[in-house]
Amino acid sequence: GLSWGLVGASTIAREFMIDAIRSQPGSDVAILVSSDRERGERFAASFGIPRVTTSLDDLLEDDLVDAVYISTTNQHHASQAIAAIRAGKHVLCEKPLAMSLSDARSMVDTANKEDVVLGTNHHLRGAATIQSIRNLVADGAIGTPLYAGVTHVCELPSNLRGWRLEDPSAGGGVAFDLVAHDADTLRYIFGSEIVEVMAIADSHYPVEQGMVAVLKLKNGILAHIIDTFNVPHGGTGISIHGTRGSIHATDVLTQQPVGTVTLVDDRGEHTVDVQHHGIYEYALHRFTSAARGYGIPLATGEDGLASLAVTLAARTSAGSGRSERVQ
Ligand code: NDP
Repeated sequence: GLSWGLVGASTIAREFMIDAIRSQPGSDVAILVSSDRERGERFAASFGIPRVTTSLDDLLEDDLVDAVYISTTNQHHASQAIAAIRAGKHVLCEKPLAMSLSDARSMVDTANKEDVVLGTNHHLRGAATIQSIRNLVADGAIGTPLYAGVTHVCELPSNLRGWRLEDPSAGGGVAFDLVAHDADTLRYIFGSEIVEVMAIADSHYPVEQGMVAVLKLKNGILAHIIDTFNVPHGGTGISIHGTRGSIHATDVLTQQPVGTVTLVDDRGEHTVDVQHHGIYEYALHRFTSAARGYGIPLATGEDGLASLAVTLAARTSAGSGRSERVQ
């Protein structure tokens, strides 16, 4: 197992990641960094985290800490991750990895130089539904895939309506929040880079609550995505259409291990048997193994860099009104 330091007394840590860390045999959280001592102390007490500090250096100087999980607001990820990497810690960083490509590149380069593992928490790759879609496509179940549609239509729960709806400097808006996940999920399913994006955002841009985009992948697949913060009953789903069949998956861009995958082809329509497992637990399993020298994280730093490049291209396109090449 790994001894973890948490940077960020966040909702995602509280709701999912502390449990996921502790699901790995021998792993636990040794120290929490929060900018607010009192809130940090309350948070740590409720999870039995033994040490709290307001100084990242306290964490980085602790030689017993193997790995750092960063879930602060987005503008802090790069500097905190680079400091942790330079201190020789493995880093699992929330998406978006950073708010600029140059920052994300520095994170990846520094991790390579220091020979530590950098992972991006694109948890959706850990969903059994998404994995089964990827396998169906790879096995040729729908022939040659041609088109895809991603629906990520949610309403932000009230406890998450702060910086996400208000603060451009913290990386608010659906692009950094949801487009980043969609981009990674499409890259993962098709094993191909997204090369071009045309996006339109709602009137709240640059802290948009809705964005619709069309994307082109290197292998020629065309995809559209719909991402929202302000629709209560839309739900999430992915459709993929190929020369010999289509896949319709509902409730699959989630935090819980739920959702269904349906395959339609000449033989008719049937529900794919999916063996669900904990999504964040799977991500932690992969990260822990990688930090111990076995395999790579579920999503690497390079994957986080690639999804950020798509996210930034979508934001640029929403501002310019033009189609943008992904850098
Ligand atoms: P939160 O708003 O819950 O937490 C972000 C930061 O805000 C915390 O680090 C904390 O600062 C501060 N904060 C938390 N609660 C309060 C409060 N009551 N009053 C004042 N400040 C507070 O963010 P999320 O957990 O929703 O998101 C954090 C990161 O994780 C983002 O980068 C997001 O994109 C990502 N994320 C990823 C998900 C995934 O599934 N991969 C899902 C959800 C989020 P401090 O640390 O200084 O105490």
